[in-house]
Amino acid sequence: MCKIFDAHVHHLFEMPIEDAISIFKKEFPLTKTERQAFMSLPNEVSSSGEFYFDEMQNIRMLFLKYSFSPTAYAFAGLEHPLNVWQEDGEKLSKNYLRQASEYALAGYDGMKMLEGYPSMRKAMKRPLCDRVYDRYYAFLQENGIPITMHVANPEENWDITKADAHAISAGRVYDGSYPTRLALLDEVDGIMKKFPKLKLTLAHFGFLSYDIERARAFLDYENTAFDTTPGGEQLINMLSDWDEWQKVFESYQDKIIYGSDYYAFPMDESWEENFLRRPKFLREFFETDKEHTYLGKKFHGVNMDRKILAKIYWENAIKRLGNPKRIDENYLLQKAEDLLKIDGKRAEFADCDLRYIIQTVGCNK
Ligand SMILES: [Zn+2]
Repeated sequence: MCKIFDAHVHHLFEMPIEDAISIFKKEFPLTKTERQAFMSLPNEVSSSGEFYFDEMQNIRMLFLKYSFSPTAYAFAGLEHPLNVWQEDGEKLSKNYLRQASEYALAGYDGMKMLEGYPSMRKAMKRPLCDRVYDRYYAFLQENGIPITMHVANPEENWDITKADAHAISAGRVYDGSYPTRLALLDEVDGIMKKFPKLKLTLAHFGFLSYDIERARAFLDYENTAFDTTPGGEQLINMLSDWDEWQKVFESYQDKIIYGSDYYAFPMDESWEENFLRRPKFLREFFETDKEHTYLGKKFHGVNMDRKILAKIYWENAIKRLGNPKRIDENYLLQKAEDLLKIDGKRAEFADCDLRYIIQTVGCNK
């Protein structure tokens, strides 16, 4: 049926960007993905607990946007120093503001934040509503720049007796040394109290399928939204109280945005199954009234009203983001030149990608 605006696409697999582009070119038509927003993740915590920085994430997302123009968007991520928890707050605060304005001028359409991921939040030590972010949020609010933020994780990840085997093996089980899910949500409230007009989208429905009243309270702010990215699995949880959740989808039909955590999967024998898994789940859930299985869990599709669905799949993202911002090609080239001079970058294929970016953008200018 309808065309799709996937507002939550990543590129994290180790492969040259040229290959990722050709895989995305095959994948997008097969899922009717006509617009897409690439989400950058510059800092992460590895499964062994190391807080790391990937120099290539922001430039790769901007170049993916460039490659899929005019239908694509890019969200930058803040680049944190590796000793971020020891850094002087005032210095960091200015750094974050400088980055936000740099990215806005360069042609990014928004900011992606993984800082609310439990392991990131633990490593970084500062609350999401800390003063250190105030200038940054104020700038985004003032300029209507959207943020897509990952906050918390599925509730069962805080209980080793309930967490699924995959979460346990990936180190996504949280003891008392991590902030709790509710503490993280309180920090989001702290942001919204200071910046009530912020265009804040929580990915994965904010992992709020356990707490419908809190979900409503978050959506009651003027410019907040959820994206539908699977995780945990929020939509299947909602089925246990679907009559009430359906009312949420109806009341807040302008504030729910399709996103699937889409990737260019390596083109091995499981390629099709892998890249289709999440989009297929979302579409079976929303568009059918039949029984299906997702990651071993049975669920029944909700056959969502088509007008609401068109908003979720397309119109809401278009309203929020407008047309993609113009990319500053000189910035993209300069960034690539600068990064090429840095040794020991974390990502594989970094220099090969940078040369490809310089060649492609340089030739088209
Ligand atoms: Zn994601």
